[in-house]
Amino acid sequence: SKEYRIELPDEASMVAFGAKIAQATQGHGVIFLLGDLGMGKTTLSRGVIRGFGHQGSVKSPTYTLVEPYEVNGKHIYHFDLYRLSDPEELEYLGIRDYFDEQALCLVEWPDKGRGMLPAADLVLQIALLGYGRQLSWTPQTALGQIMADKLMS
Ligand code: ADP
Ligand code: MG
Repeated sequence: SKEYRIELPDEASMVAFGAKIAQATQGHGVIFLLGDLGMGKTTLSRGVIRGFGHQGSVKSPTYTLVEPYEVNGKHIYHFDLYRLSDPEELEYLGIRDYFDEQALCLVEWPDKGRGMLPAADLVLQIALLGYGRQLSWTPQTALGQIMADKLMS
C-alpha cells in the first residue's frame, strides 16, 4: 500500500500541518494519534483545532480525558486517554455520544481505550527525526483514504 509521510522540522510546521488536517477532514471522522510522550500529538491537535478558526488556547486534556470545541459550526473532541486505567471508564464519559458522524474526534493514546473506541478513519504516527518529527499516516476507511490523499497534495 501507499506510504504517506512528511518531515516536520519544527513546532510551527507541525501546527501548519494541523491546519491541513482540518481542511482534509472538513470536521468529520476519527483520527488516532500515535507516538511517545513529547512527540507532538497535542501540538498537532492544537494545529487542527486552530485550523478550524479556534482562537483560544488548546490545552492537553490529560486530566479531563476529553476537551470539546465548537468552532464555526464544527464539533471537535480532543481526547487524551493516557491516564485512563480501564477502557470501561469511557462508558461513564458517555463515549458513544462523542463519536457521532457530525464530529471530528482526535484521540491521543487510543490503545488505552481499546475495545471501547470506534475504528479510526485515519491513524497518524509521529516519530523523532533529528530535532524534528516524521509524521506518517494510514487510512483505515474510505473516508480516511480521501483524507490521506488530500494530506499528500
Ligand atoms: P505529546 O502530546 O505527544 O506528548 P506535545 O505536543 O505535548 O507532545 O509536546 C511536544 C513537544 O515537541 C513540544 O515541546 C513541541 O514544541 C515539540 N514539537 C512539536 N512538534 C515538533 C516538531 N515537528 N519538531 C520539533 N519539535 C516539535
Ligand atoms: Mg499530549
